[in-house]
Amino acid sequence: MYTDALCHLEDPRAGDVARALDAAAAADVHALLWAEADPLRARPPPAPPAGLRVHIARGLHPGFIQGDGRAQLDAVVRALDAGARAVGEIGLDAREGLAPLSVQLHCVAAQLDEAGARDLPVVLHVVRAHEQMLALLHDRAPVRGLVHGFRKSEALARRYLDAGLAVSFGLPLAHPGADRLRQVAAALPKNRVLTETDTPEPHAGHASSPAQVRAVTDALAAARGTPVDETAAAVAAAFDAVLGV
Ligand SMILES: [Zn+2]
Repeated sequence: MYTDALCHLEDPRAGDVARALDAAAAADVHALLWAEADPLRARPPPAPPAGLRVHIARGLHPGFIQGDGRAQLDAVVRALDAGARAVGEIGLDAREGLAPLSVQLHCVAAQLDEAGARDLPVVLHVVRAHEQMLALLHDRAPVRGLVHGFRKSEALARRYLDAGLAVSFGLPLAHPGADRLRQVAAALPKNRVLTETDTPEPHAGHASSPAQVRAVTDALAAARGTPVDETAAAVAAAFDAVLGV
């Protein structure tokens, strides 16, 4: 019963979505979060195969903001009105070439408030802007949700936990050289740690897929020194708690 707490199967690079969902179910993935990045490019998921729960997150990712983002934020509100399990993927990304941080801050703050008003969890993407994000969260704490693709220190992870969030680890956790990251994951409370693939983000030269979350779970189990099935069950429970299901 593996859990992919973040994937972007609506991304055109993800390829044949029905096949990816079938492969996930065959790999014993029992739940995944289908997170949209741009409400203007969103496409609905196909009916999932038996045994696989697909939860939908809707939001505007910082890497997809056009102009001041207002038209997309309006579309996010309409999408949330139509139904969603979470608000995301949203966040801050200070790398070059993306929307100015002032625009990103406006967009993420608006969506954090939208999530709060609707009592929905958030799915956060944060790159080189952790202090700014933690300041936004501090003003709104506790905030239910997750920080995805975590690759930083235990101290930073615990600041997100203190704000109310869970921390999600992706395929880098399974890298041979990722001992330090595995130590971080193993040190955090089991009820606040999630696994993800961030599909279709390339990994080892290939587009990833939700079925690969088994490798992340295996790495987490090895780091904790706990059986894989026990590890997967703990992640599943933490995921359900984040989503409120
Ligand atoms: Zn992301």
